[in-house]
Amino acid sequence: MWFQPGLGGIMMPMDVLERLLSRVVAGPAVEAGLGEVPGRVSREEVFATVALPSFDNSAMDGYAISAEDCGRTGVRLAVTGEVAAGGADGGGLTVAAGKCVRVFTGARVPAGTGAVVMQEDVTAEENGRGIVINEAAELGEFIRRRGADLCEGQRVLARGEVVSPAKTGLLASQGLARVRVGALPRVALLSTGDELTPPGQPLPHPAAIYNSNGPMLAALLREHGLAAPAQSVLRDDLDATREGLAAALEANDVLIISGGVSVGERDWVKPALAALGIAPELWRIALRPGRPFLFATQGEKLIFGLPGNPVSSFVTALLFVLPALRAWQGAVVEAGSAWRLSPAVLAGVVENPGDRMHVMRGALDDGTGVFTPAPVQESHALFALARSNALLMVPPGAAMQAGEAVRVMRY
Ligand code: AMP
Ligand code: MG
Repeated sequence: MWFQPGLGGIMMPMDVLERLLSRVVAGPAVEAGLGEVPGRVSREEVFATVALPSFDNSAMDGYAISAEDCGRTGVRLAVTGEVAAGGADGGGLTVAAGKCVRVFTGARVPAGTGAVVMQEDVTAEENGRGIVINEAAELGEFIRRRGADLCEGQRVLARGEVVSPAKTGLLASQGLARVRVGALPRVALLSTGDELTPPGQPLPHPAAIYNSNGPMLAALLREHGLAAPAQSVLRDDLDATREGLAAALEANDVLIISGGVSVGERDWVKPALAALGIAPELWRIALRPGRPFLFATQGEKLIFGLPGNPVSSFVTALLFVLPALRAWQGAVVEAGSAWRLSPAVLAGVVENPGDRMHVMRGALDDGTGVFTPAPVQESHALFALARSNALLMVPPGAAMQAGEAVRVMRY
């Protein structure tokens, strides 16, 4: 169900996300060094050219023995050489019945190796020339086989997946120093409101408040791997808002506007967009908090209007802006799975008698999995938001019992 102006139908959050994602056109791809790629979106497929392990090697510090000497105890084997990790080819060493080679973890095992006996399972002669096996070795034991983890030709990275630290290590194991990833969008963060004062300055009058949304939303972007946005504050005035939006649209790929998207006469974002010839694609959604959320585009540029109440702007940024910005980087984002949910158990009864999805803030106890809703659920309650760490979506009309299994979104 899309929002249709004039018909009074407003969209549920999942439909909103689906609609936004359908409008996102991925930005350019760039080459980045491994130091920059964690958290970025891969824009290429990478196939293994180096098997893991890339040669049969020892899993232990011990002795490489022949297949014939596997299963035997009490026999003396002559030590014919030594190979450590990085020891090129074992010096042409081979292992045969009655003989063994001293090996260390990661050493390429010599030809003829049937198993490695760990050093704890042998009695070594003091001069290092011989050993006696005390615990019989199984054929193949403690040999890490070439390709056991990864074979040449296997895909190590898909297009559209986020490069995690472990995947960065995997790319490095392939000898790759650079990979193509999605560029980071240039984001402008525009806080609207005559009441706003920058933190660090004294409040000029008793009705002034600090701009908390700007720093909060910038922090959220940073936490999700995005570059620092260009921040500005717009006065509640049509011309100032229009000029601020026009300038930000010139220099950025994405605009995140906080406040000024409601229905009051001092909410200038919609009229200013209209003056720039931009009609909202959607405005007002069935979300509590976050009802006045606005989304528009100018060409491929994305414009998000977040309601000014701190909790509303945080929640709508989390639910809609972050997935859209991932998609902009080229990530495969599906509306149905974009919100990462964790299992939880309700601490008490939860009800939503309203007709909008209630995004309830609360504390998720990681030890017990119990979710306790915050006592204050209003959209201005920044302290309650900051003391919470998870969101529970409570659909309209829902009544949930204490102890009920639910899924919550960590933040
Ligand atoms: P608005 O959406 O502009 O009507 O603002 C709704 C409420 O959020 C008002 O109480 C504003 O004072 C407050 N608000 C708007 N922008 C900010 C901001 N950047 N930081 C803190 N509060 C804000
Ligand atoms: Mg305002």
